[in-house]
Amino acid sequence: ATMPPLLSAIATAGRHGVLVKSAVVMERLGQVDAAALDKTGTLTQGVPYVTDVRPLPGAGRDEDALLSLAAAAEYPGEHPLARAVVDAARTRGLPVPPVDDFTATPGLGVAAVVDGARVAVGSPALLAGRTGPQVRTAAAEVAALQAGGRTAVTVTVDGVPAGVLGVADRLRPDAAATVTALTALTGTAPTLLTGDNEQAAARLADGVGIADVRAGLLPQDKVAAVREQERAGRRVLVVGDGVNDAPALAAAHVGVAMGRAGSDLALETADAVVVRDELAAVPAVVALSRRARRLVV
Ligand code: ADP
Ligand code: MG
Repeated sequence: ATMPPLLSAIATAGRHGVLVKSAVVMERLGQVDAAALDKTGTLTQGVPYVTDVRPLPGAGRDEDALLSLAAAAEYPGEHPLARAVVDAARTRGLPVPPVDDFTATPGLGVAAVVDGARVAVGSPALLAGRTGPQVRTAAAEVAALQAGGRTAVTVTVDGVPAGVLGVADRLRPDAAATVTALTALTGTAPTLLTGDNEQAAARLADGVGIADVRAGLLPQDKVAAVREQERAGRRVLVVGDGVNDAPALAAAHVGVAMGRAGSDLALETADAVVVRDELAAVPAVVALSRRARRLVV
């Protein structure tokens, strides 16, 4: 027997390195007319690295002590930024002490108890609403790092800012080509959805041909952005990798997860998974679905 076109397309997608979970998904891929892409780990390689370690004066810690503390709190997590912080501590040969009571808040950061102190590491949004001289100094460091296109990661100990880390990430080599291909296939440029800051997001978006940038988003804000497009009559393809992307992947017409560095939750929630680490495989399977659907009568 000859294989039905959609099943045969799933096999072809597999050879492109994309795991499409069902024939229904294979069909829906060809129906999308808008795309929304996550930044960290999706448009970027998701292998960020620490560029700056800035303890706040008066907080009583040098660079190494700050980095060691941040790495300890990040160690149990699976966020790409967590790996960057732990790697930086390892590279300097610093200890990464064990922690208790680890918690992760998607889109914001992590917290844990290290040597009896509550250490929180994450987005500068964690400082919102706090006051005091240390908060103002931290905010100034954050602004300086972000102006340089860095992602700023704040570290607080028992609620008091202790320092700020700067992190950079590299664009995927096929990011611009993927945006161009998705623009051609859907008839509209993709949207960038990110929990990161506006400046880092805008700089990166500019380089790949994305004008619609939504920054500082929490997981539920990503869902709202997708629903807004769906209310406007669009069928949205969402591509993401993180725990923070899972709700948007579920809300999408089709959700695709980047598999190599993707979180387990994103991989389970997504309708398709890019197993080989190539973003350009995403527009390739959209095109494949369109060809297969033309064969379905
Ligand atoms: P994106 O949407 O671009 O993939 P995320 O939503 O995962 O980004 O993260 C948004 C922001 O939250 C990050 O830029 C960072 O400031 C902060 N953040 C989230 N998780 C962590 C973490 N484990 N360590 C440090 N910062 C974090
Ligand atoms: Mg991400």
